[in-house]
Amino acid sequence: MVSYRRILLKLSGEALSSSNQNIDSEMLKKVVSIVQSALDLGVEIAIVMGGGNLYRGASLSAEGMDKITGDHIGMLATVMNALALSDAFERNKIPSMVMSGFPIGGGVCEPFNHSKAKNELANGKVVIFSAGTGSPCFTTDTAAALRAIEIGADIVFKATKVDGIYSSDPMQDPSAIKYDSLTFDSAIEQNIKVMDTAAFALCRENNIKICVFSMLEDNYSLANIIKGHAIGTTVSQTGD
Ligand code: UDP
Repeated sequence: MVSYRRILLKLSGEALSSSNQNIDSEMLKKVVSIVQSALDLGVEIAIVMGGGNLYRGASLSAEGMDKITGDHIGMLATVMNALALSDAFERNKIPSMVMSGFPIGGGVCEPFNHSKAKNELANGKVVIFSAGTGSPCFTTDTAAALRAIEIGADIVFKATKVDGIYSSDPMQDPSAIKYDSLTFDSAIEQNIKVMDTAAFALCRENNIKICVFSMLEDNYSLANIIKGHAIGTTVSQTGD
């Protein structure tokens, strides 16, 4: 029994990178395999792609660049990642398409359109949303919450390098406790950094669960959560 019909997977740019390459073909293969095992269960999959492996607006503006220009560059970085991921899907016979939060000409990708995205998902395509919300001053986490609402996704999966949400950073604090579940209110109150507050607030207002899980553990963890296994940390209105 599968618990979800349509899911939104938020991938940070770092999901595609390695110590050698900003966009690493082995990491692309890993993502393809994770997505394939979830598609095999019959769920529809949309992806919001991050860009932090290439550029982040905040890092560019810290170097002196205009903040808005930095965010434009960050959003364009997500388009590059999305194109690389879509290409990897196509090479593995997984139909996919890229949509962008702002229009890009030249046949590069399509502008975001919620009803077209829903139709393509229903037809079995993986739809990759790029360019975040299309506006500066947001993150791709917020874009994930927004797109999930717009396409009627049942849940947002946030893939990270850690296996869930902890009371403090488990890399720095050996006494950190992992939460199985949390409410949106407590995630916001505790200032949990794994997603930004705007994303938590949007999901809370629209009653869309978030599940934080590790991409590194194995290629089946996403599929196993979809099958109902208790993996990672879920954030919801009720915290169950
Ligand atoms: N960004 C933006 N508006 C959005 C989403 C992203 O301006 O709606 C810019 C912002 O500069 C951000 C960059 O794009 O730093 C890359 O996105 P993000 O940092 O969320 O990528 P991730 O950390 O997920 O790889």
